[in-house]
Amino acid sequence: MQRRRVGSAVYESQRWERVRKLCLERSHYICEMCGRAGNTVHHKIALTADNLHIDAIAYGLDNLQCLCLECHNKVHDRFKKYRFQTDCARRYTLL
Ligand SMILES: [Zn+2]
Ligand SMILES: [Zn+2]
Repeated sequence: MQRRRVGSAVYESQRWERVRKLCLERSHYICEMCGRAGNTVHHKIALTADNLHIDAIAYGLDNLQCLCLECHNKVHDRFKKYRFQTDCARRYTLL
């Protein structure tokens, strides 16, 4: 098991940078949960080793959500048991 590294191939790709920007621009850098300024991108269906290769999940705008730091942390606290989501939060709230 390499749970800690799930997602890194996606998050480090140029394609992700592009999709991430599209997602933020789509939402006008506004958090979809609270309406304040947001610049983190969250996977609604979190990446796992099993779905990582599915474009619609890794890069599909339908699976991405622009959130502010606070809401992103809340979402991840709620699902804390999933390690990969914690990784997602750590990486994208620090950017
Ligand atoms: Zn928010
Ligand atoms: Zn997230």
